[in-house]
Amino acid sequence: MNAIVFDPTVCAACKTVDCLMNCQYISFGDVAEAKKEKQKINAGKESRVLHECLTCYACQEYCPNHNNPFFVLVELQEKLGLLPAPRPVVAEQLKMMAFKGRLARAPVASPLINMCAFPMLTGSIRGRLYEGASVIAGTDIFCNVMWLHFAKNSVIRERVPKAIDNIMSFFMKDSGLTDMVCFHDECYGTYTTLAKAYGIDVPFRPIHLFDYINGRLDDLADRIKPLNQVVAYQRGCSNRLCPETDAVLDEIFEKIGAIRAPRKYDRENALCCGGVPRAHQRDEFADDLVERNISDMLDVKAVYCVFNCPFCMATLAQEVAERGLMPILVSDLVQAALGE
Ligand code: SF4
Ligand code: SF4
Repeated sequence: MNAIVFDPTVCAACKTVDCLMNCQYISFGDVAEAKKEKQKINAGKESRVLHECLTCYACQEYCPNHNNPFFVLVELQEKLGLLPAPRPVVAEQLKMMAFKGRLARAPVASPLINMCAFPMLTGSIRGRLYEGASVIAGTDIFCNVMWLHFAKNSVIRERVPKAIDNIMSFFMKDSGLTDMVCFHDECYGTYTTLAKAYGIDVPFRPIHLFDYINGRLDDLADRIKPLNQVVAYQRGCSNRLCPETDAVLDEIFEKIGAIRAPRKYDRENALCCGGVPRAHQRDEFADDLVERNISDMLDVKAVYCVFNCPFCMATLAQEVAERGLMPILVSDLVQAALGE
């Protein structure tokens, strides 16, 4: 088993402990206290952080040294048996998201779009934006990064290589494709940051959806009818694994005339949608997050609430709509600007 790529000497020399000091869900009196807790984790000892963590992935982004603090934390949670969710919930999820053996070999063409465990969203792949696209989806190619929310690094190590093998052997190898567009941040984060940290080989080139869309908007520039509307972006936790793509979203918004409202809970301060604590059966916490998110969107007078994460959208869409905002995926917002 590969150990998580991580250098404890970098943490020992760290003066700011940004990973914990910036955490929006756990408070520390000062840097010294945060450092003490981080050192406990690095030494494989119990820390209150292991119990209080919301599993929002944000410390992965906060660490300026790319020292994988969240992956290390999850590793220890599992080792010490400190599961963030009740055990029956974890057992049920493990069964639900397991490989089903339902794939059939099929030729695919470029652009190949991986919809991961969201086959119900394949209707989003339409029009000129995705001209000629092949779509793959289902739990047999599920990226499995969600186990970070359930203290199950062992499942990631077991299932991610199998998902990669399924993608290659059922679709990409025979078709001679090297590139795969990831519809969801989770897949892109898995096949880039997570794979690197866990020592998992990735034989294809993952393309982030934002990079794909941004390139297509250049090709389709003459078809864009700017929306000229204020949007509130609900940044998903998995974008913390590929924060460099957030600037690409700014380019997309600019091209389609979507004005990204400077809401309090965006970019590095993005707040969890509430879906994960709901899955952990921490309902009061989840209710509070939903309320804070929606109030913040209303404060900036947004017309659209834009998601890239289908799970965030499933969590918030109804309540957002009831409060007068239009919930929409980035991809569908772009389609609207293209008149499709
Ligand atoms: S994980 Fe990063 S931010 Fe946290 S103590 Fe280590 S080096 Fe510093
Ligand atoms: S994953 Fe989120 S809640 Fe957990 S320690 Fe990191 S920043 Fe805090």
